[in-house]
Amino acid sequence: MTTMRFRGRSYRNGCVPSSVLDELQPSGRHGTDGRSRAFLRKDAAASWNRAIDDVRAGTGLQLTVRGWNRSLAEQQGFFLQRYRRGARSPFGDYRRYDGSTWGRVGGAAAAVPGYSNHGWALAVDVQDFGGVGEWGNARRAKAFPILREHGWTDVEGRRVNEPWHLVYCPGDDHGARRGRGRAAGRSGARAALRRPLRRATTLRPHRPPTLRRGTRRPAGVRLWASVLAAEGLYAGELGGRFGEDLDAATRAFQERSHLLVDGIVGPKTWYTSVLGVEPGSRGAAVRVAQVVAGLRGAAVDGVAGSVFAARWKRVQRWLGVAADAHLGPRTVAALVRKG
Ligand SMILES: [Zn+2]
Repeated sequence: MTTMRFRGRSYRNGCVPSSVLDELQPSGRHGTDGRSRAFLRKDAAASWNRAIDDVRAGTGLQLTVRGWNRSLAEQQGFFLQRYRRGARSPFGDYRRYDGSTWGRVGGAAAAVPGYSNHGWALAVDVQDFGGVGEWGNARRAKAFPILREHGWTDVEGRRVNEPWHLVYCPGDDHGARRGRGRAAGRSGARAALRRPLRRATTLRPHRPPTLRRGTRRPAGVRLWASVLAAEGLYAGELGGRFGEDLDAATRAFQERSHLLVDGIVGPKTWYTSVLGVEPGSRGAAVRVAQVVAGLRGAAVDGVAGSVFAARWKRVQRWLGVAADAHLGPRTVAALVRKG
């Protein structure tokens, strides 16, 4: 299990010390009973409190949460309710835990205890944001674009088809320095547009460099570290050294994604990290998807805009899957097979 460092404190998943937590507003109105007090890591709590003020001002909606920081015992409770050791899962959802394979027998997906972003106090489950797979929920459609500006991402939620599950990504939080991040993103996309358009209707995906412990490829390592940071698995430096921490976080990512756990960031591991990215997404996973789609330099800005969509449709045609720029399970499976 990996360790997170935040403001000089080190802790494990499910054991976030109260000194790095803050309470979500409005106090006393959260949870299914409407009375619980909800906590997140300080930066995530500050962002959430800002974000729901913006949502209220922009849409009139009052958001509350029914999931937040989750202790290891709570994660185990969820997991044991829904998964059985050695069971066949009608959902095809299997997880490795405690030395065995467990199949989900009921309820929504739950992370393997010790690997949930709730255990890092970086995830919320938003009340009334639609049920499993209900991505068109009207409240969500209005509120999510505002939440996204404040660093709340749904890539992980899309992976498990849960519209209510959002993860805070500090690198994508434009709320604290409103405006600037967006402008930079747009000029990057414009630079890419100025390049001559290729006529080909298909585009072979570009394979990012394979990384492992000791690899010296600063740009690639930095990109991968930012993916793991966005996944809540890594809080170390993003300085381009592939050390022990990054190796452990990579293994945690592989375990959570049901990949071979070897600490080597090859094509399968890279490609799995883009699952759930779509037009409008932001963040580290988008940067990986941009690299795979052959973008370079300032065009790799972590914002899935029109250039991103056009490029990915060509890659999808090459892969032989629906060309919609939504990087769902079919696209990722085809990438792993052919890319
Ligand atoms: Zn959740």
